[in-house]
Amino acid sequence: MSRTLFANAFVVSCNAGIGDVADTDVLVEGDVIRKVGPRLDRAGAEVIDATGMILMPGMIDTHSHLWETPFKGRVADGWGMEYFTNIHPLVSYFTPEDARISIHAGLVESMACGVTTMFDFNTCIHTPEHADAALQAFRDAGIRGVLGYDLRGKSPNSTPPLAPGAGRFADIERVRGTLANRPADLLRLAVCLSEVAPETIAGAVREIGFARSVGCRMSWHCNKAGEIEALAARGLFGEDILPAHGNYTTDRDLEILGQAGGFLTTQPEAETYAGRRSMSMVARGHRRGVRVALGVDVPVIMNLGLLPQMRLLHFLQRYMDGAIERHEGQVPVVRRPGVPTLDARNILNFATVNGAAALGIGDVVGQIAPGFQADIVLMDTRSFGMAEGDPAGHIVLNSSSGDIDTVMVAGRLKKRAGRMIGIDHGRMIADRLAVRDRVYKRAGEIPGDLHKTYWGWPKGA
Ligand SMILES: [Zn+2]
Repeated sequence: MSRTLFANAFVVSCNAGIGDVADTDVLVEGDVIRKVGPRLDRAGAEVIDATGMILMPGMIDTHSHLWETPFKGRVADGWGMEYFTNIHPLVSYFTPEDARISIHAGLVESMACGVTTMFDFNTCIHTPEHADAALQAFRDAGIRGVLGYDLRGKSPNSTPPLAPGAGRFADIERVRGTLANRPADLLRLAVCLSEVAPETIAGAVREIGFARSVGCRMSWHCNKAGEIEALAARGLFGEDILPAHGNYTTDRDLEILGQAGGFLTTQPEAETYAGRRSMSMVARGHRRGVRVALGVDVPVIMNLGLLPQMRLLHFLQRYMDGAIERHEGQVPVVRRPGVPTLDARNILNFATVNGAAALGIGDVVGQIAPGFQADIVLMDTRSFGMAEGDPAGHIVLNSSSGDIDTVMVAGRLKKRAGRMIGIDHGRMIADRLAVRDRVYKRAGEIPGDLHKTYWGWPKGA
């Protein structure tokens, strides 16, 4: 069995019993963390000197759409609904091979930025071959992953046998038959529900029943008020269903979610960039016991990796807390119970402990402790030094993806000394661009051509 010893690290374990410990070794045997402590026995181990490094759990992206990676920047200037009108139609033109290349590129970029588990909410499954291509991308990348098999199937190409909704059940059963779906497995399957709006609840009832019958956890784009309440009224809501975004959840929705021990995954940059969405659900949910997790969502707008999401959430939540305080006459703004809502430690936990638990693997990853899977990140602090105070503050506020020195997934090194292992970046970029150009050609688009939407205003006014 392979043994790797990370020597002399500053361990930020995200584990209640271990906490943060300086000058500490972490021993990995096979795919498992075996020991955490000072001066561990090095016999037979490959030693990685982690002096000057923070050793932390790999981060967990609980909601992204990786088929979009070829179109990086296309909607950088998007506003309002322009993401939907510019990006969504492109999915129809993807072959399985296009999907494989795109998802693989997204997984590699995520790992390079310290993400070791990815929930890919895959809305690019037009045929069984597309689903197989996605699985292949995960296997090639070697990341820990969840294929979120989307039932919604909005592409015009989604004709039988993969029509939306129940038309996809048989293929999900087929894929499920190839995966054991045990918590510690590197690759697992989840089901992404169609709309759960109160008016389409009958379909949701069927889909949830199906997902549970095949032992899959679920997620969905929770974009309307009252959806969680509507599920709960039918006795269907449980912590095995992960709402994404939840911008318009009511307080009652969040109360039900908190009481169920549930989670909410938010994508701070995606929520905010187009001016369309509320962000109050994070604070309202946090106060009601909802465990918040993070994701990137749309690689067409911003880079993958969670560090920027964590930092934006820190500042945005403080901005909103301060605005509310001032509106309510709390001037000067002072600290009081519940204000500010979040600190850096909360946000680090969102990206690690909560992300793992939100995917049903809270006792498998997300912490550095004996018995957990060896999903480990080394963050280099040697160039500019480590911040004082809570090291979570360094991670959230004083680091960048460029500091991610080493990434290990299930005991295998994926990045070392700042370089991804076994990745030909030139070839990966060329393949990704070739997908973009093929899809644009089929769709009649050209690179950089954002279709802007104006209502009642002449273009350029
Ligand atoms: Zn999404």
